[in-house]
Amino acid sequence: MGAGGGDGAISSRLVGMALSDGRAFQLAQQLSDGVGPRPSGSPGAARAVAWATEQMKALGLKNVHTELVRVPRWIRGEAEAQVVTAAGNKQELHLAALGPSVPTGPDGIVADVVEVASFDELKALGDGARGKIVLFNPRTMQRGRSFEEYGRAVSFRAVGAVAAAKAGAVAALIRSAGTGAYRLPHTGAMFYDDATPKIPAAALTVEDADLIHRLARAGGRLRVRLKLTPRLDGEVDSANVIGEVPGREKKDEIVLLGAHLDSWDLGTGAVDDAAGCAIIMDAARIAGSVGRAPRRTIRVVLFMNEEMGLSGGKAYAQKHAAELSKHVAALEVDSGEGRPTGWGAIGGPAAVEMIRKLAAPLETFGASKVIEAQEAGADIGPMAGKVPMLSVEQDLTSYFDWHHTAADTADKLDPMDMALNAAAVAVMAYGLADAVETLPMSPPSKRVGRVGPPPPAATVPPAAAIPAASAPAAATPAGPAPAVVK
Ligand SMILES: [Zn+2]
Repeated sequence: MGAGGGDGAISSRLVGMALSDGRAFQLAQQLSDGVGPRPSGSPGAARAVAWATEQMKALGLKNVHTELVRVPRWIRGEAEAQVVTAAGNKQELHLAALGPSVPTGPDGIVADVVEVASFDELKALGDGARGKIVLFNPRTMQRGRSFEEYGRAVSFRAVGAVAAAKAGAVAALIRSAGTGAYRLPHTGAMFYDDATPKIPAAALTVEDADLIHRLARAGGRLRVRLKLTPRLDGEVDSANVIGEVPGREKKDEIVLLGAHLDSWDLGTGAVDDAAGCAIIMDAARIAGSVGRAPRRTIRVVLFMNEEMGLSGGKAYAQKHAAELSKHVAALEVDSGEGRPTGWGAIGGPAAVEMIRKLAAPLETFGASKVIEAQEAGADIGPMAGKVPMLSVEQDLTSYFDWHHTAADTADKLDPMDMALNAAAVAVMAYGLADAVETLPMSPPSKRVGRVGPPPPAATVPPAAAIPAASAPAAATPAGPAPAVVK
């Protein structure tokens, strides 16, 4: 089988197995329902490691093992807030602390709230935010098919607290980085920098951010009482879980399939990222039992702690540094369970061309479109520039309704979508592992990961502190590539 040729018989068998077995759906349901919430360092995360190890063996993967990852343990505690008008009318706000926010103290804080729609507006306030609670309330995130809208919205979540603290604020509230449904807050990661006071930070529901906007516009003093009691409980041992389909000729050359095993604590991490874990586990199962092993090894890596610091991705890149030149491709699935629509290639036109040929058999279910992408996934980000990368593009229409909320639960998984994703990833992974030639390297100048603390420069409130996931590389400031928190 040549790179582009595609072995039609094998591709059809891979697709047939994914569609008839429905295994990806079952695995995602088990991880989401059976294991449950699995924030890093929690008993759920430990259960997830044990579950994944056992499942990989049951699926017939080889060399199944765990690799040590040190992770922070952050415990959410309570979150309560009310908005109080000049007339003394009080309303409850619905919110969730961002991880790893510091607490407000047991009695909470009461302060005037000042609303800004951008980092520029915050800057323009000058001393006007001093002693206040800053609400970052950018325009509503639109439903869409790319990460662009999320990239814009999430920058406030990632570095809003630092920007607000620099302006003298006592706490930061962020309009949830989500499309908004049912008054649910979207939690997520935020970052402090050591040179700036750490102030508490929480995400308000889209509805409550709008409520404050209307009350503020009506005029009069507006205060918020905020109580957050999270705590950071040190670092603990956890693990990445790894399993392989050994190659038939070049066992030491690797096609890496990644997803993340941890989740946020509010829901059960069904779309983020039980779906991705299940899709790659099933793709590997199928590739390993299709009848002929691919030329190279397919390695499944379930990364720990993508959500709050990317510990597993960094640990893998470090531990396998000497072996990265043997990684011929890395593909991460971390965009939910939506139907696959195609591929994002990072290695320029030659990579697009190769992926287009490998994806040709997926045209029957609309997953053969290939675009040039700028990034391929958070956990594989630390290998950027050293390993050629690609991403599976999925329908994201409803993803950001549930992402990082209490409603990220297994009922959002669709059996057919899950099967189609497993089929698409199985065909691509097998094709990359079996091709004679290898995927061209992603140009280092374009490296952008989806997660990680932004570089110091990005914490000074520029409008584009963190560019949208698909923003052109040229738009990013010089220095280490800023990251979009996924
Ligand atoms: Zn994720």
